[in-house]
Amino acid sequence: MSIKENLLAVKQTIPNSVTLVAVSKTKPISDIQEAYDQGQRIFGENRVQEMTEKWEKMPKDIEWHMIGHLQRNKVKYMAEYVSLVHGVDSPRLLTEINKQAEKHNRTIPCLLQVHIAEEDTKFGFNEEELLDLVRNENFKLHKNVKIVGLMGMATFTENMDQVRREFKSLQSLYLKLKSEYADFTTLSMGMSGDYQIAIEEGSTMVRIGSSIFGCRN
Ligand SMILES: *Cc1c(COP(=O)(O)O)cnc(C)c1O
Repeated sequence: MSIKENLLAVKQTIPNSVTLVAVSKTKPISDIQEAYDQGQRIFGENRVQEMTEKWEKMPKDIEWHMIGHLQRNKVKYMAEYVSLVHGVDSPRLLTEINKQAEKHNRTIPCLLQVHIAEEDTKFGFNEEELLDLVRNENFKLHKNVKIVGLMGMATFTENMDQVRREFKSLQSLYLKLKSEYADFTTLSMGMSGDYQIAIEEGSTMVRIGSSIFGCRN
């Protein structure tokens, strides 16, 4: 199937209320263009340099989302244009995003990454660290970042009960914070292999790569 057909097929399985991030990491401009020609405007990348090269070459109405683990020294390269940073996993990273956003006179929307996987290989805050951060008065002074929700990745496993359980725990944390913070609008969870479950468990934003663009090498 072509990218166009894949994209249409994926979109048919996603409610209108859920935002689709087409994850184009490692894929060439020509692939992104094909999805763009089908109306897709939100793309996710996990490397700043690659994303910046694509941003330079592609139409400027694309929203670029940084979905990967982010190093603080790379933030400056994307601060001018990035639309949403999904993987904020430390207070120092948030402080750096704030600093670089200020230089460009912008407010950068961010999602805090929560460690939901029962396996311990993934980045992110645990619940206690997360609550400490959002309730910390110092962070209210960060005027150039806006925390708009949470992001999480389930364990990579065939056990869909486990995946569902992890998504449920993320959603309950999200709803708890959403009741306190009006800015909370986004729960980013679900990838090609598990997005249907994520949507059932309340995801508002799915990040889908291989089901649209095919396997990555
Ligand atoms: C690569 C990646 C995705 C997309 O994965 P697929 O399985 O190809 O859909 C989603 N989220 C993150 C954080 C990723 O790194």
